[in-house]
Amino acid sequence: MKSVSKDLLSGIIYASNAHAVWEDLKERFDKVNRVRTFQLHRGISRLSHGSDSVAVYFTKLKELWAEYNVLVPSPNCGCVKSKEYVVHLHQQRLMQFLDGLNDTYDQARRKGGSYGNASRKRPRIPRKETIPRV
Ligand SMILES: [Zn+2]
Repeated sequence: MKSVSKDLLSGIIYASNAHAVWEDLKERFDKVNRVRTFQLHRGISRLSHGSDSVAVYFTKLKELWAEYNVLVPSPNCGCVKSKEYVVHLHQQRLMQFLDGLNDTYDQARRKGGSYGNASRKRPRIPRKETIPRV
């Protein structure tokens, strides 16, 4: 049992039943997920274009978003609210992308995104009044 950490082992031994063991493990697992979610959140907000090409920068962002999606899944029940949530999420991500772009892309930023070959699908920019206040 040396491979099981002392803290974890003592927690399991003193848990009175299977449910308590499960709750304990779930709590530890949730904590790991929260830490990873935070790391991803920070990674996304700090990632910038830098010396990468726009395509590489966009690919890196997409990878971080993909992992974030696994940990924090979007509602997909298809109701109006869940669709609104997804639209809002895409707006946030467009802004994250634009925020990390180099200053030479200021014009693209103001226009709301024509980023060369980085993305074939141009994200739609909502009219100002539709951007939710956070
Ligand atoms: Zn729903």
